[in-house]
Amino acid sequence: MSNLVQRFKYPGDQAIVNKLANHIETSNESELFHIDVYSLANQWNVSKKDLLELFIRGLHEGIFRMEWEYHCPRCGGIANETLFIHEAKSINCCDICKIEFSNKLDVNIEVFFSIHPEVRNISLEFKDNYLKSNKDNITATKMIRWKNPFSIYGVDIIQNPVFRELMEGEVLAPDQSLELMKCTLLFTDIKGSTQMYNDLGDSRAFQLVREHFRIIFEVIKRSNGIPVKTIGDAVMGAFSNKTEGLKAALEAQKSLIEFYRSKPENEKIEVKIGLNSGTTIIVTLNGKLDYFGSTVNMAARIQSIANPNEIVLPMNIFEDEECNEIISSYAKTITKSKTTFKGLNGEYNVYHIVLN
Ligand SMILES: [Zn+2]
Repeated sequence: MSNLVQRFKYPGDQAIVNKLANHIETSNESELFHIDVYSLANQWNVSKKDLLELFIRGLHEGIFRMEWEYHCPRCGGIANETLFIHEAKSINCCDICKIEFSNKLDVNIEVFFSIHPEVRNISLEFKDNYLKSNKDNITATKMIRWKNPFSIYGVDIIQNPVFRELMEGEVLAPDQSLELMKCTLLFTDIKGSTQMYNDLGDSRAFQLVREHFRIIFEVIKRSNGIPVKTIGDAVMGAFSNKTEGLKAALEAQKSLIEFYRSKPENEKIEVKIGLNSGTTIIVTLNGKLDYFGSTVNMAARIQSIANPNEIVLPMNIFEDEECNEIISSYAKTITKSKTTFKGLNGEYNVYHIVLN
């Protein structure tokens, strides 16, 4: 058992690792098939986030394996099942309903962890019974209700910073994409970086830019988001909900302003931040999962109108009740302005936030 404990390589509280290792050793087979991670977290009085991280580490170490299930939006049945993301398809077909549907990470894709057969060999019967009971339910009731408060969705895995770090190679096939109905994108950029590269030389300037990446990446991860990539001196981050994205934007700006306050004038970096929220698609680009679509483009455009040390938000984030409360606890000034975006009709309301 001690061997199993070490295999997790979990940097947090070892008491959770001991509990989980003990659970694996002592549970009967049925409890190790489709393990109910979030119920266990409740039972053990640990955070869902910490236990999910531990399962992801276990996945990486070959203690668990994952099952991705693609539910039919009409009957709820399992239209497809894969062990890896790279086997996922944009579109699946339900044999019962005879319909085609596109897969959505936060709507119809459910993820399970089961013990890896090399750790405990559980009989195939469990899976057969599970699939059969799903089918039987549909025959009897015309649909199954699979969603419950403990469901883990595809988005919870794909947008988990530990998963993205450890399982970097787990990406979609080049010709496939998955939809994400709710995503918040954050873009940052540096004010006058050309000037800084000229004044300090490439090497010193890059050192400073890298330091500012580190600060932004840390804040994104702390807010349960993932740093998707850097583009030149800019950063792109993704979040599953508006409030976490907003908190990251505010905290990043606050941390950066504090960090540069005492620095010499020519080494001060000022950052412009923009956020946007909406639907996106996830694809693989340059061997990594990446985000595409009009929500992403708009996030970049919103960022481009921010002034240094500001955060600019669209109406759908600013007017969200929970977001509005968070903003009022950080903002010194809020300025509403109307703007147009090249290629898009009409005027858009945006809000410029300056921190306390
Ligand atoms: Zn169906």
